[in-house]
Amino acid sequence: MGVEKRFGDLLALSDINLDIKKGEFFTLLGPSGCGKTTLLRTIAGFYRQDSGDIYLGDELINDVPAYKRNTGMVFQNYAVFPHMTVFENVAYGLKVRKLPAKEIEVKVTAALKNVHLSGYEDRTPDKLSGGQQQRVGLARAMAIEPRVLLFDEPLSNLDAKLRVEMRDEIRSVQKALGITAVYVTHDQEEALVISDRIAVVNFGKIQQVGMPWDIYKDPVNLFVATFVGKINALDVQLGESLLGGMRKAVTGSVTFTVPSAGTEDCTDAVLAFRPEDIVETTSEAAGSNRLAGPLKATSFLGTVASMEIDLQGQGIVIERHRPKKIDIPNLGEVVEFAVPPDACLLFDKKSGRRLGGGRAR
Ligand code: ATP
Repeated sequence: MGVEKRFGDLLALSDINLDIKKGEFFTLLGPSGCGKTTLLRTIAGFYRQDSGDIYLGDELINDVPAYKRNTGMVFQNYAVFPHMTVFENVAYGLKVRKLPAKEIEVKVTAALKNVHLSGYEDRTPDKLSGGQQQRVGLARAMAIEPRVLLFDEPLSNLDAKLRVEMRDEIRSVQKALGITAVYVTHDQEEALVISDRIAVVNFGKIQQVGMPWDIYKDPVNLFVATFVGKINALDVQLGESLLGGMRKAVTGSVTFTVPSAGTEDCTDAVLAFRPEDIVETTSEAAGSNRLAGPLKATSFLGTVASMEIDLQGQGIVIERHRPKKIDIPNLGEVVEFAVPPDACLLFDKKSGRRLGGGRAR
């Protein structure tokens, strides 16, 4: 039986089984309200689970109160003490533990060096930027030399550029010190970049655990496929099996050839493929799944231009990398493209379960 947590009638965590490795950067990723903060707080000891066990190493910690679990927490809203200097903030947990002053000084100095805040010891938080305040929060959590660092959406209050800088810094400090980290975010890009492994959570349940590459390339269900990264998803009817382990998948008057063992008994399915896997081509050599449709919309994202094509009433997003303005067709112009069969992922429409299809491209 995994960990379960209820708030009244609401089952916030359901049968959670996770084995987080020592030194690992492990991320809980999911949409708002899916239960990731509840899980983090249960690990920290702020909530008591209704069933299941939590271990820290070999130690069963169900009955160990939060302040004795030796975990360091970094919060979304920084949670630095406004009336204390940077030094006093970072020293706080060490003072509570009644360490000698000399030792406190050594540890605080080291923690501030790790987050590049040496020289800021005497400042108060009102004279620090948001990013610097979050570094103080990180240094305070690390100073106690916790067995696990717990992060609750620590970057959500920072602007986009600082978010990228801080996430790289958090990752490099964590790796340099070899501390196990459990990190909560709803930002899939952040999760892909920062994590060794990710658990995708929805409705209080773990959907998939894996390395970023596996989560993105080999999603176990439609929720994971659509939550992590951009993907085109079309309702299709599965048709007859073809030679070579392929099968027909039909939407409107368009027929796709998709890889399939042909053993699935469902016929209502969802066909999904990533924008970057679509090939823009007019060549017959592209083989199966050559399609065309008028350009409906474009958006420019710097390194990528994304184009939405109308395929008989359903929108298909194609990405063009290193775009040149002159190459982007006008709205309404017909764009020809091909969807390689091995880029096609199939899901049962009813359950969302993966039905075979392309793997780990
Ligand atoms: P967010 O990203 O918005 O913080 P989350 O994935 O962290 O979301 P949780 O905060 O863990 O989600 O909440 C999971 C569910 O439990 C939600 O439906 C939430 O309303 C409910 N919940 C969380 N804390 C409590 C509480 N103390 N009392 C009652 N219900 C709660």
